[in-house]
Amino acid sequence: MNLLNEFIARTIPIVPKPIVGYFSARYISGDKLEDALRVTRKLNTLGACATIDVLGESVTRREESTAFADQYRQALDAIVRDKLDANISLKPTQMGLKLDREFCLDTIRSIASHAQERGIFVRIDMEDHPFTDDTFWIYRKLKEEGLAVGTVIQARLRRTDGDLDFLIPMQANLRLCKGIYNEPRSIAYTDREIIRENFLHLLDRLLSGGCYIGIATHDEMMVWGALRILRNLGLPRDRYEFQMLLGVDEELRRIIISAGHKLRVYVPFGSQWYPYSVRRLKENPQMAGYVLQNIFKRQVKNGG
Ligand SMILES: Cc1cc2nc3c(=O)[nH]c(=O)nc-3n(C[C@H](O)[C@H](O)[C@H](O)COP(=O)(O)OP(=O)(O)OC[C@H]3O[C@@H](n4cnc5c(N)ncnc54)[C@H](O)[C@@H]3O)c2cc1C
Repeated sequence: MNLLNEFIARTIPIVPKPIVGYFSARYISGDKLEDALRVTRKLNTLGACATIDVLGESVTRREESTAFADQYRQALDAIVRDKLDANISLKPTQMGLKLDREFCLDTIRSIASHAQERGIFVRIDMEDHPFTDDTFWIYRKLKEEGLAVGTVIQARLRRTDGDLDFLIPMQANLRLCKGIYNEPRSIAYTDREIIRENFLHLLDRLLSGGCYIGIATHDEMMVWGALRILRNLGLPRDRYEFQMLLGVDEELRRIIISAGHKLRVYVPFGSQWYPYSVRRLKENPQMAGYVLQNIFKRQVKNGG
C-alpha cells in the first residue's frame, strides 16, 4: 500500500456511511438470510462451500446476543432445509463476551448444540487481543463437551506460536489467518514479511501435528507456501481447506478449486455491516483511492 492509500485507509472511519456502503457491497451478501442462502447456493454450484456469518459484534445488551443466536438457528435450519454445503462462523463479542464470559459460553453452546443436531460445524472467529484468552477458554470448554467447534489463530500475534503448544495436543480445528486487527507492536508483529513467514511456520507446525486447518488467505505467496507444505507432508485433501472472503480475488478462488482443493467462502449477511465493511476497505489496496476519488467528485459536483 502506498503512502496516499495508507493515509486514506486511516481516514475511512470518517467517510460518510453511504459511501462506505457503496464500496463495500461486494463483501456482503445482503441484509437478509435469504441473500446469504442465494449466494451460498451459487458458490456450491461453482464448487465452493461456505461459512455463513450474521454480521454483528460488541453487543451491549444480552437481548441482542439472544436475537443473534436466533438468527444463527434460523440459518442452520435453512442450510439443512436447502441441502447447502455450508457451516457457520460467529463472533464472541456478538454473543456477549464483553458483558459476561459465562453468558457468552452458554449462548455459543446453545448454537453449537443446535448445529451439532444438524451435523453442522461452528467456527468461533477470533477478534482483537483483549478477547483471545476468553475465546480459547470458550473453545476448549465446548470442544471438551464434544461439540463440533473450531476457532481461529492469527499469525500477526507474537503469542500464537506458544498457543500451538496446547492447541496441537488437543487436535484443534483451526482457521489460520494473518489477523485483521491493528494490534500494538508489543504483542504483534508489524512487519508484513514476518507475519507471512510466521503464517507458514505456524501452518507447517499445525499440519505436521495432525490438526485440521482452514488456510484463510488471499495472498498468493501464502497459497504457494501452503501448497509446498502440503506436498512435502503428503497430506490427503480432507485434512485442510482453503478459505477466502466473499468479494475478494475470485480468480484465485477458481484456480484453487480447479486444482482440486476444498475452498470455503466467508458469506456475511445482515444489517450491521458497517464495522466489517470498514475493516475490508482498509485492507483493500486499491479501494482507498477509489473512495477518495468519489468524495472528490461529489465535492466538485456540489460546487465545494
Ligand atoms: C475466511 C476468512 C476468515 C477470516 N477470519 C478472521 C478472523 O476470525 N479474525 C481475524 O483477525 N481475521 C480474519 N480474517 C482476515 C485475515 O486475518 C486477513 O486480514 C485478511 O485475510 C487479509 O490477509 P491476506 O492473507 O489475504 O493477505 P493481504 O496481504 O492482506 O492480501 C493479499 C491480497 O489479497 C487481496 N485482498 C485482501 N483483502 C482484500 C480486500 N478486502 N479487498 C480486495 N482485495 C483484497 C489484495 O490483492 C491483496 O494484495 C479472515 C480472512 C478470511 C479469508
